[in-house]
Amino acid sequence: MIKTVFSQCALSLVNSWAGSSLLKTLESRDSCDNILRVITYHRVDLPSDNPHLYPGVHSVTPDQFATQLDQLQACAQIVSLDDVLDALEGRRRLPAKSVLITFDDAYQNFEAAWKHLKSRDLPVVLFVPTSFPDHPERKFWWDRVHWAIQSTPQTQITLDGQPLLLSDRKHKADAARLIAAKVKELPHRDAMPWIDTLCENLQEDARPNEVLTWQRLRELSAEGVTMGAHTHTHPLMNQVDLEEAREEAVRSRDELQSRLGTEIRSFCYPAGGVSDEVAAMLKDVGYTAAFTTKRGVNNLDNCDPMRLDRINVGGRTSTNVLRMQFLSYARDLKPARQPA
Ligand SMILES: [Zn+2]
Repeated sequence: MIKTVFSQCALSLVNSWAGSSLLKTLESRDSCDNILRVITYHRVDLPSDNPHLYPGVHSVTPDQFATQLDQLQACAQIVSLDDVLDALEGRRRLPAKSVLITFDDAYQNFEAAWKHLKSRDLPVVLFVPTSFPDHPERKFWWDRVHWAIQSTPQTQITLDGQPLLLSDRKHKADAARLIAAKVKELPHRDAMPWIDTLCENLQEDARPNEVLTWQRLRELSAEGVTMGAHTHTHPLMNQVDLEEAREEAVRSRDELQSRLGTEIRSFCYPAGGVSDEVAAMLKDVGYTAAFTTKRGVNNLDNCDPMRLDRINVGGRTSTNVLRMQFLSYARDLKPARQPA
């Protein structure tokens, strides 16, 4: 309770005019080079336009994204994946206040973000789970569960023998959170059939996925978007056996390379699922860098390139909170909701 109150007070301070002044002072002293901040976005859209998509992976609206870019350009140095890979391999050092912008899952509304990035000539990395483009029938499990719960005519389901009420928004949100937590604990081979059954019981109103097509991904790649691998079927890599994880890592990279004609050297762990064995395997199959969902700032002089931390932007992440998390010596604020 005390921690929550303290956290709320700290956030109010950070978001105030005084907080902005304090941030400027702190930023002016945070001048170390080779420190990398990686921002994670998922969806840039208006949630009201997409009630069928899980709100937990909504990042910002297009207008908020443009404002964040303006402010990032004023206080940070936005670098490319090539800059980061060169620094990891010792060919150069990153400038002070370096920031890499990443997007997970290749939702179609990446287009709204790309419009602003392209007009500013800013680099970005898009992590693509390769089984989803051109397969609108393959939905992300978190979007399926969200919409099945929102649209079901049922007012209650049973989870692990316990009744879960679905009678109003709050109960539905609580149920979605419990289900997501359960999915992440199950082996992938059990989790997906379990979701099929759950959604069937909820009388799922199936919608097509909202993932970019291969044609559009090719065009975006040609326009300057850097692509990275995000597995083939989007399992948690620590919830499949090692051979299956290897297949996901290699297949997604090979498919991106053959379809886009570019070299793929980076990987992003779905939902941050990683183990020592998986990280070692990624290095073994030839990846140069891999990104987690663990919140933090990376010192490229002593980090593990197969476990690079990121900072997730969620609905509660103001630009000042983001800037505070960039500071290499002050990053203990309440995190945004964990992404899928
Ligand atoms: Zn993902």
